[in-house]
Amino acid sequence: MEFDLIRRYFGQPFKALEEGCRQSVVAGIGDDCASLRLSPGHLLYMSTDTLVEGVHFFHDDPPANVGWKSLACNLSDLAACGADPIGFNLSLSLPFVDEGWLAGFSSGLLQAASQFNCPLVGGDTTSAGANAASTLSITIIGQSPETHRGFHRSLALPGDDVWVSGMPGLARLGMLLEYQARGGLASCCTAAELPQLASLLSEMPTALKESALLSFQQPQPQVRLGVALRSLANACIDLSDGLVGDLSHIALASGLSAVLSAAAIRDRWLQFWPSLSSHPEAESLLAALVAASLQGGDDFQLCWTASSHLHDAVLDLSARPWCIGHMVQGKGVWLSEAGQPPQSLVNNSYNHFKGRAS
Ligand code: ADP
Ligand code: MG
Repeated sequence: MEFDLIRRYFGQPFKALEEGCRQSVVAGIGDDCASLRLSPGHLLYMSTDTLVEGVHFFHDDPPANVGWKSLACNLSDLAACGADPIGFNLSLSLPFVDEGWLAGFSSGLLQAASQFNCPLVGGDTTSAGANAASTLSITIIGQSPETHRGFHRSLALPGDDVWVSGMPGLARLGMLLEYQARGGLASCCTAAELPQLASLLSEMPTALKESALLSFQQPQPQVRLGVALRSLANACIDLSDGLVGDLSHIALASGLSAVLSAAAIRDRWLQFWPSLSSHPEAESLLAALVAASLQGGDDFQLCWTASSHLHDAVLDLSARPWCIGHMVQGKGVWLSEAGQPPQSLVNNSYNHFKGRAS
């Protein structure tokens, strides 16, 4: 049964992709180990991410989206290190076999794997026993030339610009739209935030709603951008928990402070929503958007620091990044607003063990 499932949903559908990667995949699914070949003069990069049903996804989420996202968040980790994917292992622990779900999951996973030329090279498939939830764990493997010194979080320097790709917070709006469609918007925010968020969602133009939903359901890992940044960035991180939380890792590891410009974040939103500038409620809508940018997670865009003398070179990248702040001596993450003292930003990102003895 188990072998039949592996063959039908993983071995067979992913075979052609593996064949196309023969140069790096010497042996994939079907042996005790996969055997992979690095390009000469390259370092290996590895990262694991686990998705738990009821925590990271729900059983009634479209399984193809779960498949896409499970690989996308791993590809995003490679992107944040400037590494190219070589392949991945998939470990599945399932309370029961739902073939419809497995077929959808496998198709979304294959779509992401094919788009990023990242073959499935092995894994494990087990029963979850008495546990009611599924657990999906992916270990991804990538490589980058030894000459790339790595974007370690500790490498930001005072005076560096802080850059982002995409529109941080857009995926949060997609999540809110999804909850709203299910009648559960109130469960995602405080009672005080609800009216402002409801009005924000109702004012968003259709095209922006569509791109917000897509950013949430099918985030695009920035693998090409990560490679392009090898010669430009100092420290880099992918945005999975929210800008403040993720950037605070860079600030802490580098012994510095990050100062974000509220005006720069508003200007970025106006590029995504140009008609907002003439909206009568522009000011309060922009305030809600800036809040979404600071705290919203799941974007899987990149945030990095680079020396200010490389400003024009970074601006020229085809990913069209945006400079939203800079690094200075000090501690923590701050928001600067013209004419006001900088405001210290609290990291509200999700903490799995908050309030529990871990
Ligand atoms: P072993 O007993 O040697 O651990 P398994 O019976 O667990 O091997 O798996 C058989 C083969 O199928 C192995 O090559 C393993 O990597 C692969 N495999 C198992 N589960 C998955 C999965 N979910 N996705 C991809 N490959 C898998
Ligand atoms: Mg096994």
